[in-house]
Amino acid sequence: MKLYFASGNEHKKKEMSRLLGGYTLILPKDEGIEFDPAETGNDFISNAVIKAEALYSIVHQPVIADDSGLMVKALGGQPGIHTARYGEEEKGRKLSDKEKYMLLLENMEGIEDRSAVFVTALCLILSDERRYIIQESCEGRIVEKPSGVNGFGYDPVFFINEANMISAELPEGDKDIYSHRGKAARLMKMLLDKEEGYGKERTEN
Ligand code: IMP
Repeated sequence: MKLYFASGNEHKKKEMSRLLGGYTLILPKDEGIEFDPAETGNDFISNAVIKAEALYSIVHQPVIADDSGLMVKALGGQPGIHTARYGEEEKGRKLSDKEKYMLLLENMEGIEDRSAVFVTALCLILSDERRYIIQESCEGRIVEKPSGVNGFGYDPVFFINEANMISAELPEGDKDIYSHRGKAARLMKMLLDKEEGYGKERTEN
């Protein structure tokens, strides 16, 4: 099955292809489709649905979209849906991944409760009538000092409780076992595999 992936990000495409194994993902830009919908939702699910619906209305083929972010308890759930753009308003420019996690550490100086959770929402649209939403999480805490070179984003400052390790210290395949996106994508793969079987049954009968 060919699947359109509502993103412009090659890193995410690579990661999602690895996680979903066996499906060919197509980014809108791979087919010259201009795609940059305004993420106006108030939560991860709303934003994943906005992206999936925007692309589905153009291609009318199976589409998946994702939205993710980091929620820090002591910061009232921030940066949340603003994780990708953290600090931009304050600094008046885009920040690098390192600048973003260093700003988070600065904003958490002296805070004792460091608990945080990564969340991913995935939306799959197979047809006008058939839509699925999955949201998964990865519990952890924000460490005091960055460590590790793997992964991306906030991985050097996020300690994964279940793995008992900082995310950026885990080999990539191992991070998939525990990560919010890994968990959500495995569930999505079950849905897609079922769909492939369903499609085959229909053509065989
Ligand atoms: P979006 O899903 O493209 O909106 O981006 C979410 C933001 O959360 C990005 O800035 C990422 O850096 C961050 N993020 C999402 N998942 C992870 C992860 O697994 N590790 C580290 N940072 C992540």
